[in-house]
Amino acid sequence: MPSKKSSKAVTKNEASYMPHEDYHNFSHRGSDKAWRERFNIGDIYVNAAICSVCGWFIRSKNKHDYVTCKCGAVSVDGGSHYCRRAGEMGLYTNVIEYFKDVEDEHT
Ligand SMILES: [Zn+2]
Repeated sequence: MPSKKSSKAVTKNEASYMPHEDYHNFSHRGSDKAWRERFNIGDIYVNAAICSVCGWFIRSKNKHDYVTCKCGAVSVDGGSHYCRRAGEMGLYTNVIEYFKDVEDEHT
């Protein structure tokens, strides 16, 4: 007997989107602050690092997304809110980009 796929309707509660989904699903680099606040998105557009040992590119996709590279030398965390790193400095290259309006404020 084929199993029936459940088609449970999910309530479109904005808060429930987070923190399990990639905030890039709800934003682009030019998303303004008002929009980001709706989805609890911080100032960081790309919170990522490249491991110099294994070459993996890892990106933290939300506040509680702790990602470790293949060899374990570096981990990233914090999503759009803060850039937390675990690992030895010099073993990775940070890839950090801010939302456009944030960057404009600092230049
Ligand atoms: Zn690595």
